[in-house]
Amino acid sequence: MNCEYIAVGTEILLGQILNTNAKFISEELAEVGIDMYYQTVVGDNEGRLTDAVRTALGRADIVITSGGLGPTNDDITKEVVAKTLGLPLEFDEASMENIRQRFCKMHRDYNKTLQEKQAYMPKGCIILKNNNGTAPGCIIEQNGKIVIVLPGPPKEIQPMFLESVKPYLRKLSPYQLYSRVIKIFGMGEANVEEIFGERMRKATNPTIAPYAKEGETTLRVTSKCSTREEGEALVSKEVANICTRLGDVVYSTEDETLAEAVVKRLISSKHTLAVAESCTGGYLAQSITSIPGASEIFSEGFVTYSNEAKQKYLNVPEKTLEIYGAVSDETAKAMAEGLREVSGADIAVSITGIAGPGGGSAEKPVGLVYIGICTKLGTNVKKLNLNGNREHIRYLTVLHALDMIRRAL
Ligand code: ATP
Repeated sequence: MNCEYIAVGTEILLGQILNTNAKFISEELAEVGIDMYYQTVVGDNEGRLTDAVRTALGRADIVITSGGLGPTNDDITKEVVAKTLGLPLEFDEASMENIRQRFCKMHRDYNKTLQEKQAYMPKGCIILKNNNGTAPGCIIEQNGKIVIVLPGPPKEIQPMFLESVKPYLRKLSPYQLYSRVIKIFGMGEANVEEIFGERMRKATNPTIAPYAKEGETTLRVTSKCSTREEGEALVSKEVANICTRLGDVVYSTEDETLAEAVVKRLISSKHTLAVAESCTGGYLAQSITSIPGASEIFSEGFVTYSNEAKQKYLNVPEKTLEIYGAVSDETAKAMAEGLREVSGADIAVSITGIAGPGGGSAEKPVGLVYIGICTKLGTNVKKLNLNGNREHIRYLTVLHALDMIRRAL
């Protein structure tokens, strides 16, 4: 079984919205073991949409469309699909009733003629009720091919896919894909490739696929088996092997970010955290507090940008700043120690650096960052020489700080 996905919407072509439905559908199809070979984006144009549907039907077993199910004249997906398959549209009273009820719930008047358009469905299709919007979706089975027509808004397509389409597709596929990710910080993709390259090329079940995101590397281990249990066993064994080989650069085998992994560990080990940031301006505090449950472990964050603030809030000695400068090992240490003292947190983290583009010198170039971490066992300072623009340097600094907290834990 293979599938082609067609995203319908001129606004996607214009770059006004990001095609997040493509990511969602691709991931979901992989889970049910259906290969996706092509994806197309096409505007709200009858001729081009007809071509796209015909082409997809010529080369895929399953065609999934998203978008263009609204009530207005430029919403043409259902009409084009029905016409291409030679099916008339028939009025569906149950869909109309759902539309009426939604309008009633929202206390909005509806335009009968416009909304009725959404209740006309291709003859003989399986209608997918929309519990989060007005446009129903549908599944059409014809001559061994399947066309699945879904609404565009993510808050509508996602529940519809999970509740109705996924169970339908599961029954079609003899395989189940099962995958887990290994999240790595502190080892680049090239080094990971060096260690596992041959295994990656040879492995067929499970497969091992790397990808790198700014500062982080991920390995995805995927099995294709007839049962989930069989797949899980294969993947778990491979994940354990890889983790043993990689050691402490692996920060998680769950699909979570470094910040999520760190907050989870802080919560489970009952350690509190405080941060004092200079060049990251609150970015570390933001990364921590964006994770639900952070209030259990995060006590406070200072943005001590100026020397005066470093003295006033963290008791950094004036002499330290005078002799070594704000961006120095000594200042990062004094910030972390002062912060632990004033906050009473178990772990105190300080950041001081030069994010650029200005402010660098030969002695202290842009990208020079010191991260201090103070715990009851003492204080550690890490010196980094980072490359990139201001945003990138700030981003990498936060990742390094999170990794230091993880290692301290
Ligand atoms: P509506 O009934 O709201 O008109 P629709 O099914 O006709 O829904 P569209 O009109 O094509 O869908 O898109 C409505 C909105 O849904 C878009 O403005 C956009 O915000 C979102 N959307 C559409 N397609 C996608 C996509 N591929 N990825 C992410 N968001 C999308």
